[in-house]
Amino acid sequence: MNILIINAGSSSLKYQLMNPDTGDVAAKGLCERIYIDGRLTHKVGDNKVVKDIPMPSHSEAIAAVLDILVDAEYGVIKSVDEIDAVGHRVLHGGMEFSDSCIVTDEVIAAIEKCIPLGPLHNPANLMGIRACQAVMPKTPQVAVFDTAFHMTMPAKAYRYAIPTEYYENDNIRRYGFHGTSHKYVARRTAELVGKTEFKMVNCHLGNGSSMAAVKDGKCMDTTMGLTPLAGVPMGTRSGDIDPAVVQFICNKYGMSVDDCLNMLNKKSGVLAVSGVSSDFRDLEDGAAKGNADCRLALDKFCYEVAKYVGAYAAALNGLDVLTFTAGVGENGPDTRAAVCEYLAFMGVKLDPEKNKVRGKEMLISTPDSKVQVWVVPTNEELMIAQDTAELVKAAQ
Ligand code: ADP
Repeated sequence: MNILIINAGSSSLKYQLMNPDTGDVAAKGLCERIYIDGRLTHKVGDNKVVKDIPMPSHSEAIAAVLDILVDAEYGVIKSVDEIDAVGHRVLHGGMEFSDSCIVTDEVIAAIEKCIPLGPLHNPANLMGIRACQAVMPKTPQVAVFDTAFHMTMPAKAYRYAIPTEYYENDNIRRYGFHGTSHKYVARRTAELVGKTEFKMVNCHLGNGSSMAAVKDGKCMDTTMGLTPLAGVPMGTRSGDIDPAVVQFICNKYGMSVDDCLNMLNKKSGVLAVSGVSSDFRDLEDGAAKGNADCRLALDKFCYEVAKYVGAYAAALNGLDVLTFTAGVGENGPDTRAAVCEYLAFMGVKLDPEKNKVRGKEMLISTPDSKVQVWVVPTNEELMIAQDTAELVKAAQ
């Protein structure tokens, strides 16, 4: 099977053509500057081609992707008919979607209904879906939601302690994000530990970071909230803060709430604390050279991650497995070591040699550690491809 995976943003569109059974990627690439001028970067193995192609809308971007996939020189398939289905990443499924689903008119209407919850991403995701429907009307389209995995959370985890009318009238609650990554890592970890019933915390630590408490494969709690701003500090996002900070800053500096939220999303996090960078490699370089603010940013990050592991161990009434994934989780031995040091009281013991691993699946705890600690590289695209293939096969 060939599954085309589409992740449409407001002015960009990422794609991969993947075999869902093997995870092999035949080709992948990126359309940028949609609505401005248009540029396609296409990769087949180590070969890369960049083409300037006018993209006045997402439709032209999708058309350019299909053209290059069947191109005589750079293509990997002979005809667009060889694409069995398209899997779309959709940010916000609100309370409408607890799983991936085949796109129908009703599904499109429900994604539209979720626009107030994902005002930047959902319209772009919909444009990607509509553009594909227009250029490949016979090919099944599947929507895979970033929020869906978290829909198993109990009410005590997802309800905010604010007046009920905001939940009932406006669906304001915790949703959580990175669900496709958490789902992939939870499934893969179950395979690696050879069990289906266990308590785990998954730490997706990247530029955006979130954590999930998972019991027997089901999400019980997660750090992000109504939006991805909540939880641990991130590259440029503040994570949890007292909401009254917004009022204080807006009043004192005459800032609008939107501007203040923009600051909390784009100018905060480890970037703000370090004053240097949102990239953990830069922070580690800075800290190694004696920059105290870089040190503080790293310390703050690891402290908050460890605090959530402790909270989730309590929420789950125990912890069997701790997993690290995404850019920092997969490639940051120092971050993993610093987080686990806080957890020594729970019997977490890392093997320092094994913890040197980068970007590979590995059990990094010692045999006598009370909690197994794993590095499990995430693969959101494979999860999207597998969900898409499963749904399309079931519908045949
Ligand atoms: P995104 O949330 O954008 O998908 P990623 O999961 O790719 O982000 O994570 C990006 C982060 O991973 C960056 O802060 C980067 O510094 C960090 N990272 C990537 N490689 C390494 C590495 N070798 N050592 C430490 N951090 C790394």
